Amino acid sequence: MINVTKSFLPPIENYTKLLEGIWNRAHLTNNGPLLMELEEKLKDYFAAKHFIFLNNGTSAIQIAIKGLGITGEVITTPFSYVATTSSLVWENCEPVFADIDSNSLTIDPKLIEPLITAKTTAILATHVYGIPCDVEGIEKIAKKHKLKVIYDAAHAFGVNYNGKPLVNYGDASTLSFHATKLFHTTEGGGLVANDETIAHRFGYMRNFGHKGQEDFWGVGINAKNSEFHAAMGLCVFPYISEIIEKRKELSELYDRLLINTGIKISRPVVPKGTDYNYAYYPVIFENEAALLTVRDSLNAQYVYPRRYFYPSLSTLNYVKKYEVPVSDEISRKVLCLPLYHGLELDQVKRICQVITQVLRFKS
Ligand SMILES: *Cc1c(COP(=O)(O)O)cnc(C)c1O
Repeated sequence: MINVTKSFLPPIENYTKLLEGIWNRAHLTNNGPLLMELEEKLKDYFAAKHFIFLNNGTSAIQIAIKGLGITGEVITTPFSYVATTSSLVWENCEPVFADIDSNSLTIDPKLIEPLITAKTTAILATHVYGIPCDVEGIEKIAKKHKLKVIYDAAHAFGVNYNGKPLVNYGDASTLSFHATKLFHTTEGGGLVANDETIAHRFGYMRNFGHKGQEDFWGVGINAKNSEFHAAMGLCVFPYISEIIEKRKELSELYDRLLINTGIKISRPVVPKGTDYNYAYYPVIFENEAALLTVRDSLNAQYVYPRRYFYPSLSTLNYVKKYEVPVSDEISRKVLCLPLYHGLELDQVKRICQVITQVLRFKS
């Protein structure tokens, strides 16, 4: 059986070695030494001033919204994982959907400005599949209208754009280190911020607002993470370049076997200046019928690609409706093929054989 993804697991001895330390110290959570070490490593990796490790990527978005004082209307992408939209609604903000660019599949800055009203306070955009948003375009609009910018960078670990880590753009970037993500800590997430005051607020918000034992900076929640999760992160971290390299090799094999081979499949476009992380392998079919036929044929061979991201978030039953034809269409036609560290080149070949056979027979 081949799933769309499979978690990377480091050698178990590396993990148990760290567990022995946890047992010796009996310091299981609340800023233990492993957590501090991981935060420091990731801060350097992101070339950021501040990095705050959290329990997951969804609380990262929620804390970013609250910590940046975002209220009212937030212009966001309809093409992302549901957490991008649900976090806004959970924090009493109203998602206003701007459609995506049909090449990069990220929010189209040209469509943001017409949606700005007196109630708009922020833009929440996703670097979907690790493809950078038009960060320059978004920054220009945000500056002009004094809007905050949050990037949902759950897919963007390891992506560089114009020579710097992509997570450095915007007022804050949120990360997910869920088991299915390129870099993971089993469950986990984090916030990148370069402003001292904002980072401080994020830091106390994750820990009930505590200022020492008997005083409080302000309102907070519990979004801390544990030594056990930090230990997993420390064990996975040394393998990051190997993980990205392997995904690149597999992605390039998919490209060779599927793209420009006469079948009707296309790929999103990664903008120039990007060192990509190969977080996913999305393909866009001619129509939904082709996607469903291919999916069924793959399922019959025990291969399970996933419809990331379907349906378009503008169709959720708790949001206002907006016209987002590109997102609607792409979400019906896009399928993520299996891509993970342990996947073998021969398995990619088999998957591509099934796809090309089905599509050639159809046309
Ligand atoms: C995974 C993901 C999240 C949520 O992260 P969790 O760690 O699972 O809470 C948010 N946004 C996007 C785009 C994601 O892919």
